[in-house]
Amino acid sequence: MASRRKVIHTLASLPFVGAFLGSNTLSANPGTAAVVSNVRRDFFKELGLRTFINAAGTYTSMTGSLMPKEVIEAISYGASEYVNLDELQDKVGERIAELLNCEYATVSSGAFGAMSIGMAGVMCGMDTKKVKQLPNTDGLKNEVILQESHTIGYAQALTNVGAKLVKVKTAKQLEKAITNKTVMLWFLNANTEQGDIKWEEFVALGKKHNIPTFNDCAADVPPVENLFRFTKMGFDMVAFSGGKGLRGPQSAGLLLGKRKYIEAARLHTPPRGETIGRGMKVNKEEVLGMLAALEMYLKKDHKSEWKMWESQIQLISDSATSIDGVKSEIHVPKHANHVPSLRIKWNQKLVKISPDEVRKKLREGHPSIQTVGDSKTIGITTWMMVPGQERIVAKRLKEILSNAT
Ligand SMILES: *Cc1c(COP(=O)(O)O)cnc(C)c1O
Repeated sequence: MASRRKVIHTLASLPFVGAFLGSNTLSANPGTAAVVSNVRRDFFKELGLRTFINAAGTYTSMTGSLMPKEVIEAISYGASEYVNLDELQDKVGERIAELLNCEYATVSSGAFGAMSIGMAGVMCGMDTKKVKQLPNTDGLKNEVILQESHTIGYAQALTNVGAKLVKVKTAKQLEKAITNKTVMLWFLNANTEQGDIKWEEFVALGKKHNIPTFNDCAADVPPVENLFRFTKMGFDMVAFSGGKGLRGPQSAGLLLGKRKYIEAARLHTPPRGETIGRGMKVNKEEVLGMLAALEMYLKKDHKSEWKMWESQIQLISDSATSIDGVKSEIHVPKHANHVPSLRIKWNQKLVKISPDEVRKKLREGHPSIQTVGDSKTIGITTWMMVPGQERIVAKRLKEILSNAT
């Protein structure tokens, strides 16, 4: 039996082995079924792609996060039945709102999609004629005020649907910048510290002038509390990425907040065709996957997960700093990607290799390991790893650094 298993395992590593191991061929021999069901087609290998250990974080270029099996099961369940798309979004929106104690919610195509449909929603309200005219904003309010320090490329999600950005520094300037065309105030949670105006004041300014406020929290879980905090604080809309800390589908996201704005945002989404959001489709699989991911995330033991990340980071840090001349720093970003993170640097007179070369060696080694950093440091997080991979990363890093001494 062992040798048979070995043969099948070897076969499985060959390209296009599915043709040999089709269920028809084997159904006559039930004894082999258990073995065969473990054989997975290796698509990435077939395509000549290398997979890697993600020691970097939630990067779109690295395909985000890995989904727990419950999420994959929800996606797989969704793929095998038909359902009315709008009804599904209605029900899931209610369920998510209940889970997160907010008025309403919808599953969007990423946080970027949430920003675009949220923006389009406040510009057009429930007027379906206006919905069709975007990105042409003639006759519509289209000015969005944000803090200069909150400038980020992702604000393209707002300008894509026709909005114009107006940048200010202080609360005083913000109030002065309000015109009869101002339609929304937009806040970037990741840059909270850099901005003059903080959450409560920002929300209060919106309420004072009767202008909806939006908080982009794409990368702001953990902590789990953030899923509740900003809608409760009074932001009219809050967006999260589905495929970062929440570990849902990488192309899904959450738009949370006031029912009237989310209902207006929905008018721009499929199945409606003559809309700016038609290309931002979220189908049933991702809607269910997002719901399952959120449920899983709310249930998990966040304290023990945090402790695991800390010990993983410590292990990698200890391994690297066991080499003379290597120093490390463990830090936790205050907002966005709020997880234990490691920065490693070294005296290049003692360890004669540059961080760029180390990253390259990690990437090109076996297994391949992706890290981040700059010309002086290597940056590592462990939250996107499969537990256990931290030992491989610690060992490889030490090998590469010690080979350069
Ligand atoms: C990742 C990110 C986005 C985009 O989120 P997606 O879910 O990939 O669409 C938007 N804003 C910020 C601050 C982000 O970090």
